[in-house]
Amino acid sequence: MTPTAGGRAGAALITGAASGIGRATVLALAARGAGGLVLIDRDAVGLGAVVRELGDTPVLARVHDVADEAAWEATEAAIGERFGGLGEAVVNAGIADGAAIVDISLAAWRRVMAVNLDGAMLTLRTAMRLMTGGGAIVTVCSAAAIKAEPGAGAYCASKAALLHLTRVAAREGVAQHIRVNAICPGGVETPLWRQNAWWDKLVASKGGEAAAFAAMGASTPLGGFAKPDEIARDILALLAPGFTTGAHLVSDGGYSL
Ligand code: NAD
Repeated sequence: MTPTAGGRAGAALITGAASGIGRATVLALAARGAGGLVLIDRDAVGLGAVVRELGDTPVLARVHDVADEAAWEATEAAIGERFGGLGEAVVNAGIADGAAIVDISLAAWRRVMAVNLDGAMLTLRTAMRLMTGGGAIVTVCSAAAIKAEPGAGAYCASKAALLHLTRVAAREGVAQHIRVNAICPGGVETPLWRQNAWWDKLVASKGGEAAAFAAMGASTPLGGFAKPDEIARDILALLAPGFTTGAHLVSDGGYSL
């Protein structure tokens, strides 16, 4: 396998597969054709619904927290047993926060870091260990990794750290012919936004979620928030065989310009 190869031959791992960008990526990978799909999420009901949407693609679904190291050890063994290894991975699971630095609790800060950073590191570790024949990885960062967002300090810091971890992984992956790139979406219409304490108030004031997304996206030059399948398309483009590694694709409709 050459250094420009993707990992099409093997199975693809996606975390946060039950909803939003992760679910859209799973469906796009299944439509493209995948040797197998490994789906991780802590939401058993949502994950079960995604599995039912998949046709004949071989699937290994695992319900656990991405920040649970012991669970990853078991998942790693299960992937090896079922598929023999991995060719692609999308490090996607993440949570939001919505507190200014003066208000945030250490517990809330640590919760965000545990999922967005510890969880991403453990996912990367498993993926890179199992890509013995080379591969391609995309980490789902955020425009918040490069643009300061007031009231989202933990989220911004976690995504900036993940972006730099992506570059380190790209350097370390070279010897194994693993390419590692990041995607930095701007606003995307997913349930993630409901995690912000102010979301219900915004929805009530605008008269519904669609109107709330439209209001939030009004400052995006390309017009509005992205749909999950638009981000999935860009993730698949980064996974495709190529010469790019350690790069980040800002998929934000010009928001951070
Ligand atoms: P979402 O809430 O729709 O989906 C996230 C999925 O991850 C859910 O299925 C959830 O159950 C799962 N998950 C969360 N914490 C987990 C954990 N600890 N262990 C296992 N699974 C867990 O959100 P989304 O918008 O699709 O977010 C996906 C990624 O995209 C996140 O990393 C997020 O930060 C990033 N992102 C989202 C936006 C946006 O505007 N929605 C913008 C930029 C980046």
